[in-house]
Amino acid sequence: MKVLVVNCGSSSLKYQVLEMDDSTLLAKGLVERIGIDGSVMKHEKIGMDKYILEAPMKNHKDAIGYVLEALTDKEHGVVASMDEISAVGHRVVHAGEKYASSVLITQDVMDALEECIDLAPLHNPPNILGIRACQELMPETPMVGVFDTAFHQTMKPENYLYAIPYEYYEKYKIRKYGFHGTSHKYVSMRAAAMLNKDVKDIKVVTCHLGNGASCAAVKNGVCIDTSMGFTPLDGLVMGTRSGAIDPAVITFIAEKEGIGADEVINILNKKSGVAGISGVSSDFRDLEEAEAQGNERATLALQVFAMRVKSFIGSYMAKMNGADCIVFTAGVGENDPSMRKLICSDMEGLGVELDDEKNNVRGKETVISKDSSKVKVMLIPTNEELTIAQDTVEIVGKLK
Ligand code: AMP
Repeated sequence: MKVLVVNCGSSSLKYQVLEMDDSTLLAKGLVERIGIDGSVMKHEKIGMDKYILEAPMKNHKDAIGYVLEALTDKEHGVVASMDEISAVGHRVVHAGEKYASSVLITQDVMDALEECIDLAPLHNPPNILGIRACQELMPETPMVGVFDTAFHQTMKPENYLYAIPYEYYEKYKIRKYGFHGTSHKYVSMRAAAMLNKDVKDIKVVTCHLGNGASCAAVKNGVCIDTSMGFTPLDGLVMGTRSGAIDPAVITFIAEKEGIGADEVINILNKKSGVAGISGVSSDFRDLEEAEAQGNERATLALQVFAMRVKSFIGSYMAKMNGADCIVFTAGVGENDPSMRKLICSDMEGLGVELDDEKNNVRGKETVISKDSSKVKVMLIPTNEELTIAQDTVEIVGKLK
């Protein structure tokens, strides 16, 4: 059974086609600059050179039209016709409190996602556009929604409530939701497989460290707590996002700079994080290069980032009464041995002993702690698309 996985951003669209009989990737691609000049699709049939198409794409429907053409193309395609695609799995960022797992997309689901636009104004609209475009172009194909927030819906109120007047939770649903759920779920399950244990018997701290970054405490296969909050601005320091700060800083900056609170939030989202501290870049490769050349603020940015991750690991080990393992994933987590070392240093007291030699590795599933380490430290490349495709197969399978 072949599944198309679609992940729509405001001006971009990522896709993959997977053969789920043996979980292999057949094709993948990225469309960028949708709705702006210079739209381009980069399509790759696995094992072949990239096929690049530059053509005007005024909206997501145009973009998906080109993707479907590429997927059925004689040379670059992987199916003779789109009828061979049994289902489409859509990544959707926010499902609020409505869905705790993936669902078949119906009109009711679309209405619920529309209701969540308030909670994710940047993310849900393009997700919805992508679903509509696929529904128009593939009207007979079942579509499944896989939500970033769903895995975190198991959090209990003591971990998701903010200590603000309760009526704001009741009236506006202001609470912690958490994001990157598909990734936290995938790596925690892989961690169990690597330990040869049932996920229901282990406690994992997952660290998804990419441009966006979050940690999660996963106990017995369910999420106990996570670092992102009402929005993906909370928690860890990120590439350009501040992570958690004292909220009083917002009005203080607004007053001092003569700008509105919304402009401050924009600064906290786009001009802060390691980019803001260092003044160099949001990319950890640039920061490490600058550090090697003696740039002290680059060093400071890396240290602040590491300390915040350490704080969450400690907090989650306290909440779960220990951990069997700590997992690193996503761009930085998978590729940056020196950052992993900085985070895990001086944690022997908590049973965490990184092995410098084993840690000198990139992008492959492996244990990077010493044999004596009570808490195993693992590197697990995330695979959100595979998880989306697996959920899609499971849900579509029930339709038969
Ligand atoms: P992601 O959002 O998961 O795609 O992660 C993107 C981030 O991963 C980039 O901004 C880089 O900072 C980081 N990254 C990717 N490759 C490396 C590398 N080799 N060393 C350090 N950081 C890396």
